[in-house]
Amino acid sequence: MKKKLIAGNWKMNGNTASNAALLQALVSASASLSGGASGGASGGASWACRAAVCVPAVYLAQARALVQGTALELGAQDVSAHAAGAYTGEVSAEMLQDLGCRLVIVGHSERRQYHGETDALVAAKAQKALAAGITPIVCVGETLAEHEAGATEDVVKRQLAAVIHTNGHCISEIVVAYEPVWAIGTGKTASPEMAQQVHAVLRAQLRAATPNADRVHILYGGSMNAANAAQLLSQPDVDGGLVGGASLKAPDFLSIIAAAG
Ligand code: PEP
Repeated sequence: MKKKLIAGNWKMNGNTASNAALLQALVSASASLSGGASGGASGGASWACRAAVCVPAVYLAQARALVQGTALELGAQDVSAHAAGAYTGEVSAEMLQDLGCRLVIVGHSERRQYHGETDALVAAKAQKALAAGITPIVCVGETLAEHEAGATEDVVKRQLAAVIHTNGHCISEIVVAYEPVWAIGTGKTASPEMAQQVHAVLRAQLRAATPNADRVHILYGGSMNAANAAQLLSQPDVDGGLVGGASLKAPDFLSIIAAAG
């Protein structure tokens, strides 16, 4: 059985001092489980699930230095759809790879909403990540209006279809995050049953595209916290969580990691 994956999305938060405190707390919690000073480096057991932090691009080098050799994986929050060149301000997949990223979030609803990212652009970003050996965490999810109109399944299927269309041959290498937009940062959460229903739809869509669909992690995101994580994570198609606000507090993030064990 695959390990669950808990990924923290720090969004545009942090500074060098707060990042160091948060990462040191996470790393030392992992190391104390493994009985070593530095978690994975000691080769002992650590968390029962995979855990990652997706930090702002400017802090990737700092975070890498603090998590290297530990159980904590490093991720980014966005990637360019271009390989290199005259794209001021963009960060390429190869740069992320160079900085030790194993994961990158693509198509977060905040980027779709505030930066006009289309399904096609998200698919192209996922393609660039995969080509660089980085796992894209492809976010899908419906807005409140779409939810109330009963369009949830149509919306998430359309969003995932674009990524399958562009990345068909290696679609089993992606991670999908179902994040209902109305649940992000609002304190409202999809019920475990509601999340499972959408995850099952996404799994069926992946099964139609690849014989390896069961390998794909489908994460739930949207106000996941220490209190609701265990129930959400107990659903058969909920393979982990993409965690925003609660990933900024070490005790909360560690509780969610423990709930995934
Ligand atoms: C997110 O930003 O991906 C997210 C799920 O945020 P929050 O947990 O704060 O709702």
